[in-house]
Amino acid sequence: MSVEKDVEGRFMLFFKQEKYRALIARAAAQGHGSVMVDHSDLIAFDEELSHRIVEEPLKYLPILDRAAYRQLQVEDPEYAEKIGEFKARIYNLPEKLLIRDVRSIHLRKLIAIDGIMVRASAIKPILRVGVFRCRSCGAEYRVEQDSQRIKLPERCNSPTCRGRKSRFDLVEEKSEYYDYQLVGVQEKPEDLPPGQLPRVIDVGLRGDIVDKARPGDRVIVTGVLYAIQERGGETPLKTSRMYLDALSIETASKEPESLQITPEEERLFQEMARDPDIHEKLAQSIAPSIYGLDHIKKAIMLLLFGGRTKTFPDGVKVRGDIHILLVGDPGVGKSQLLRYAAAIAPRGLYTSGRGSTAAGLTAAVVRDKGGGMMLEAGALVLADMGVCCIDEIDKMRPEDRVAIHEAMAQQTVSIAKGGIVATLNARTSVLAAANPVLGRYDDYQPFTDNVNLPITILSRFDLIFVLKDRPEPEQDRLVASHILGLQSKSPTSISPPIKPEILRKYIAYAKRINPELTPRAAKLIEDFYLKMRGMYQQTSTITITARQLESLIRLAEARARAALREYVTEEDVLDVIELMKKSLAEVGVDIETGKPDIDVILTGKPKSMRDKFSIVIKTIKEFQEQKGFAEDEELKEALKEQGLSEDEISKLLNRLLNEGKVFTPKPGVYRLT
Ligand code: ADP
Ligand code: MG
Repeated sequence: MSVEKDVEGRFMLFFKQEKYRALIARAAAQGHGSVMVDHSDLIAFDEELSHRIVEEPLKYLPILDRAAYRQLQVEDPEYAEKIGEFKARIYNLPEKLLIRDVRSIHLRKLIAIDGIMVRASAIKPILRVGVFRCRSCGAEYRVEQDSQRIKLPERCNSPTCRGRKSRFDLVEEKSEYYDYQLVGVQEKPEDLPPGQLPRVIDVGLRGDIVDKARPGDRVIVTGVLYAIQERGGETPLKTSRMYLDALSIETASKEPESLQITPEEERLFQEMARDPDIHEKLAQSIAPSIYGLDHIKKAIMLLLFGGRTKTFPDGVKVRGDIHILLVGDPGVGKSQLLRYAAAIAPRGLYTSGRGSTAAGLTAAVVRDKGGGMMLEAGALVLADMGVCCIDEIDKMRPEDRVAIHEAMAQQTVSIAKGGIVATLNARTSVLAAANPVLGRYDDYQPFTDNVNLPITILSRFDLIFVLKDRPEPEQDRLVASHILGLQSKSPTSISPPIKPEILRKYIAYAKRINPELTPRAAKLIEDFYLKMRGMYQQTSTITITARQLESLIRLAEARARAALREYVTEEDVLDVIELMKKSLAEVGVDIETGKPDIDVILTGKPKSMRDKFSIVIKTIKEFQEQKGFAEDEELKEALKEQGLSEDEISKLLNRLLNEGKVFTPKPGVYRLT
């Protein structure tokens, strides 16, 4: 006991330091129930004691709390009386454990972990002090609670009840509660060894630290590790689950800049940026094992740097993040490019369209083990402030199909389900790949028929590229020799101009720069935009929209960033215009007219296709006006006379039926809806 008294005395001295007196007084003034205690201050104050807290927190933390409360009684006796207890929340332990390194030797010790919060339950009240009323005489008793089961008074002591067995009711309004929230903290993607599934640890937050962080936030949690008995279990042994009872939770910096960059590295980067071929070299350093695809690598390079996010005075935000979609035949290197980009990006995440968790790409409300509801963050939220590489995006869950628009445009994910309402941040660049609907890209179908994604999602991509696997002797020979050279480890063919470790840091460093458009660069973008819009006048084909205008700005800014420039040059603009034209041509060239046609993306049909649809609709309408409906054979005959092939006609009709523009009141008969 005397040791304990000594310790309490030491702790009271600790809280008498100027810094902590001020912090405790402030906590009282702001109505907080705790004070944050920097562990490094404890080390400085009494190294021996600081170790003992870490080794035996169950013994020392209550003493620390009591000492803090004593100081609160000095600073603000009235407030101390009112709240009855006060907590010291330790943070900043000297070492942080990786979640995958947490072991049973850490049980009942104070540890700190860092990771991403992936899920959070609703906040639930937990009984701290129960007030119970005797059913027979009405006498009331206060009982302090501590464990999972509710503790009742042992007996009623009133004269009328004495000796008899009494029953008690909980008096809800006089009882005291604290808040509780269960969250899951997962390893950061960058801490994950290759090929491993991320591990998650359950963390309990009690009192004023609930809701301190949201799913998707990077956090450092300091707390005491417990083992919780598992019900059932797959092994004959009784196993337990790790559970961290949190003392404090800090949200860590979101900036990839937290990568350490030394002055020497800074000098190196500046020198690299002066190289006139810097853009080429950067692009060639992306997935050097993949031959060719230079324009795609260049686009991915721009995506990694990103444009500037702009916030206007009225609060409207324009994203700086660049989204790119690769559509193409199997085996052309899409997955490889995505994996590489995820590894290079300072905060990269590779996932498949199905997502690797229940939360998929966006977020979900899932039932936890205890039957409560948990909000779980999906890939786009976990990659906040980074790059999310989504392979086979065409296979995403229907829920994600609905929610991904918001993530790509507003950069948030909202969810309201099972009593949980939340908006999570998803300030993420999307690099996605999709396979063609029919397995192979069909040149004779419009782009939108080749990919199983709604136009609303397609139009969110700044650049779309189509990769086709067509036998071309010369190209094939080059790819083959590249791959063969690779596998016989000839280093010249694969070594990238810039090593991955350096590239990664270079990107993180470049992201600090916010390049401005020079007036001449802005003029060039405007000219291009107006010229493309002008073509709309001549050909009645919308070629470009304001969306592409914003895309061009983003891309040009990214190109300036890549050279560590504070301003966007004309060269930047001309280069990204080329890239944009190439992308437009790949998705939009109407094979029959040869005109770039952004309508393909916006409406899903190339112009001449649209003409054909209008012919079908017009013809049905004519029949309908004559006799109330169009009969199958008559209609097909009439359409053939207008130059449509049998094949085309059935495709067009099917499509109109699917889209609900036409219906069949009875078999063999069509009507417009
Ligand atoms: P996809 O995802 O497009 O189906 P993958 O990325 O899985 O294709 O590529 C299949 C394999 O072919 C990979 O091992 C990849 O390295 C190789 N490959 C495909 N295209 C190229 C290329 N242009 N140069 C070198 N290797 C390639
Ligand atoms: Mg693939």
